[in-house]
Amino acid sequence: MNLISNSDAHSLPNLGREANIMEIEEISYSEIKEAIQNKKSGKLIKTIEFHPEEGIYHYDGHRKCGVCLAPEETKKKNCICPQCGKPLTLGVAYRIDELSDRNKKDIHSLSEYVSIVPLQELIAEVLAVNKLSKKVQTIYEDLINKGKSEFNILLNLSTEELKKIVDPFMLEAILRMRSGKIYLHPGYDGQYGVVKIFSDQERINQQQKLI
Ligand SMILES: [Zn+2]
Ligand SMILES: [Zn+2]
Repeated sequence: MNLISNSDAHSLPNLGREANIMEIEEISYSEIKEAIQNKKSGKLIKTIEFHPEEGIYHYDGHRKCGVCLAPEETKKKNCICPQCGKPLTLGVAYRIDELSDRNKKDIHSLSEYVSIVPLQELIAEVLAVNKLSKKVQTIYEDLINKGKSEFNILLNLSTEELKKIVDPFMLEAILRMRSGKIYLHPGYDGQYGVVKIFSDQERINQQQKLI
């Protein structure tokens, strides 16, 4: 069985933000089932996902106590919050750990996957504004027009092609995202995870360049 990622269907902007690439005879239920179920068929080429750490319940913790723990640490603390003494809100990673019948060493047996950061979040990071702001939306739509599609921009366009449509800071953000050189602070207890591309120092340097 292949492990794959799929995007939620309950919010329109997020539809299709994760995807699976398959090489199948025809688009039919049985072919898709075969691709997912039968690893040896080689029909599932790749799954495109965004970092699960971004989810609001990835790690365990208490938002009000400012406590965020990885499953291993939660277990050491018997699922009790070190701050308030009440049971911790357990996250997705904890549950995965419980259900898992493979250990991390078996990671090589996973399907091919590529992790992305949604383009709107990259733009927001570069501009240091909220991803839901109008400014981000305007630039996002402009980039989609120039770059054909979000996946094309995030995954396919060469550095040379990207240079024609984005500024150097944005280019750097996309290239770092591709190479996985990013900072991830997992979400927990209803708090969104945070993806950071640039350190605070890099941001200060960049702002000084603009002045
Ligand atoms: Zn959801
Ligand atoms: Zn607590």
